[in-house]
Amino acid sequence: MSGKKIEEKVRYMEFKQYRVDKDLIVIGAGMPGICAAIQAARLGLSVALINNRGYLGGNASAEIGVSIDGADGMQEFNLWARETGIIDELRLENLYRNPQKNRYIWDAVLMDAVLSEENIELFLNTNIDKVEMKADGLIEYVSGSQLGSEKRFNFYGPLFLDDTGDGTVGYLAGADYRMGRESRHEFGESAAPEEADDCVLPSTLTFHAKDTGRPVRYIRPGFALDIAKTGALRYRTIPKETFYRSQWYYEGSGRINQIENSEEIIRKHRELVYGIWDYIKNSGEYDAANYDFEYIAPVPGKRESRRLMGDHILSEKDITEQKDFEDTVGHGGWSIDLHAVDGFFSRDLVNKHIYLKGIYQIPYRTGYSRNISNLFFAGRCMSTTHVAFGSTRVMATLSTLGQALGAAAYLCKKYSLMPRDLYRSRIEELRQLLLRHDQYIVGCRNEDPDDLARSAVITASSESRLSLAEADFEQPLDKPLGLIIPVDGHLESVSIMVRAASDVTLEFTVYEPVKRENYNPERVIVKSSVEIYASAGFTWVQLPMNVDVDRNKVFIEIASRPGVYIGMTRDKLPGVISMVKTPNGSPTLVDAATMKMKEYIWRPVEGTACFKADPDNGIYGPAKVINGYSRPYGLPNLWLSDKTDPDNCGECMTLSWHVDKTINEMILYFDDDLNYRISYWPVENNVIPELVRDYDVLYKIGDEYRLLESVRGNYKRVNNINADSIKTNELKLVIHATNGSPRVGVYEIRVY
Ligand SMILES: Cc1cc2nc3c(=O)[nH]c(=O)nc-3n(C[C@H](O)[C@H](O)[C@H](O)COP(=O)(O)OP(=O)(O)OC[C@H]3O[C@@H](n4cnc5c(N)ncnc54)[C@H](O)[C@@H]3O)c2cc1C
Repeated sequence: MSGKKIEEKVRYMEFKQYRVDKDLIVIGAGMPGICAAIQAARLGLSVALINNRGYLGGNASAEIGVSIDGADGMQEFNLWARETGIIDELRLENLYRNPQKNRYIWDAVLMDAVLSEENIELFLNTNIDKVEMKADGLIEYVSGSQLGSEKRFNFYGPLFLDDTGDGTVGYLAGADYRMGRESRHEFGESAAPEEADDCVLPSTLTFHAKDTGRPVRYIRPGFALDIAKTGALRYRTIPKETFYRSQWYYEGSGRINQIENSEEIIRKHRELVYGIWDYIKNSGEYDAANYDFEYIAPVPGKRESRRLMGDHILSEKDITEQKDFEDTVGHGGWSIDLHAVDGFFSRDLVNKHIYLKGIYQIPYRTGYSRNISNLFFAGRCMSTTHVAFGSTRVMATLSTLGQALGAAAYLCKKYSLMPRDLYRSRIEELRQLLLRHDQYIVGCRNEDPDDLARSAVITASSESRLSLAEADFEQPLDKPLGLIIPVDGHLESVSIMVRAASDVTLEFTVYEPVKRENYNPERVIVKSSVEIYASAGFTWVQLPMNVDVDRNKVFIEIASRPGVYIGMTRDKLPGVISMVKTPNGSPTLVDAATMKMKEYIWRPVEGTACFKADPDNGIYGPAKVINGYSRPYGLPNLWLSDKTDPDNCGECMTLSWHVDKTINEMILYFDDDLNYRISYWPVENNVIPELVRDYDVLYKIGDEYRLLESVRGNYKRVNNINADSIKTNELKLVIHATNGSPRVGVYEIRVY
């Protein structure tokens, strides 16, 4: 480093100063910061959202272009785990407007979302570089100058939220923080190194190239690496199919301080990227003659630096043992994904995905400072160990904490509390508030006394049976087949559709998960076999069970049997899925229980095994819309109509009361297939087919129904219908069309 640190006080001139006063100051507009700001603004707080770059979204911005992942990725059994709430709203909006996944349209989606909140004032290109403290140890204001305008802003507020990634505000305020890896024994983490050290997950410089339609020459710049000579290609690959874009593992070193040596890291990344591109263009191994760089990010995507310390530090066991917390406000589920510290030049495995049993819970106490009383933090500087961070760091997961903190800030203001006091006195109120705003809180049900729907009598035009009985194709039973189905109480038997070339014995094992939110085969409750006889076509074979199921679902494993074929359907039901057990050939996939390479992986298959469950127990009945859960937890928890014409559903649902109620708002939480992974890549469909598209809401006056709201072309999961204090004893939801699904699904209805 050539600069000399200036110790003595110097006289200097400053930009003109401006004072901004808000209820909540959010520094950093990564995805968690955006979700926090939107949530707080919707609850009526005035919010300053400050970002030192010109694009919103942090690593997910148009500038850096990282995909948003979450609890539904890189696992076997985190089914129906996609985050809901504001992050889902943003992703559904992007899917709708931008199925081609253009990064600049995505930026416009984020801009619209922020600018449409009138309580948010946005400060782009404003770098916070100063924190002023009060005598009582609280942050008084944060200060930053704005690129281009020669202005300096001082942001005052009672509450601050650090989403800078680097935890810059926390650091300047003197908040406790860590950087590097904990030792194995400190938190009993088997994935941690024996001794603590300063290493972190390295960063990556993203790039993209495009086919220009004519040959383009590339001359390696003098600063770039000659990749072939580095020896890296003995341990790392530059893929042939996707050479035109950066791979996450084109990483620098995690041994360098990612903040202090930021410029050195950028320079080394440039050497790497321009060197890799030289290899792609000039080695003759790639079909890249017509390709040219389209963009190279101006800054690397940073994976890890400071982690600020809260009242709880989330650690490996919290995640692998799926601990229940009284202050759970979010969830995660991505594997513990730890990268090789030496990045592209490492001789180690590129990374390890430590697979979990299912999703885990994120406590509120990971989101505020343990020693700076008015400081919240979200994003990668939240309070975790390095190992736990390997999982929490994906952006949809981080955003759940962001949204929770936005709501927490609202309650802090309402009751004049500091973040820790809120944990001690009003945590249940926070959780209930978050549920209303569509956050998933594992196991927490709607107990809102103001919700009139909870006391309504619910009826519906039809309901789906727990059965898929029409086969479209067959699947050879050459690998063990798993069938997960929901069960409410007792299960007498499940029948499956089978064709066998000869008489054989079919062995099956029935498991239930240990936790209601899980889908994994954990506890054996039945082990049995049935005889089946040779047949030319499919026959129904009954698998007798006669069990009481405590955890609301079973995982039926049917042992492989060559010569046997299972009838499969392309139809699907929420909570029902078929999987096959396949040997795992990848050393990067590791079992959390043993920390060894997984022997087998259960993978979802195309279609679902046809089945009939006895008894059905009204799994998809209309009353599910008021059972308190707005997504799968144990049961699927939704009303699902019988099969119908997607463009002409003719389905309806009524909510009625014995006496008139005064109604101001109705909230509908539609099925948006939480098992659908919203991809970063271009897709055909721009709306999730399960979502209700066209519907009317009516209310009854005497014998007559009047129209309250008519919605056409819906593509959102949560629909808020406002009413002007209407008095009625019956609301009617009439569904005319879905976005393609043959069934109408509604998770929850609330009425206020
Ligand atoms: C290459 C790469 C690939 C990844 N792949 C994935 C993936 O596939 N899926 C996934 O979900 N996650 C992925 N991650 C992880 C994820 O991107 C990060 O964990 C996440 O972005 C952290 O969010 P954040 O908001 O804390 O930080 P950031 O996303 O970095 O956002 C911080 C924001 O704060 C602003 N800021 C910083 N300092 C200041 C300041 N002083 N004043 C004002 N503003 C400031 C920044 O401009 C930025 O907008 C990846 C990360 C990297 C680096």
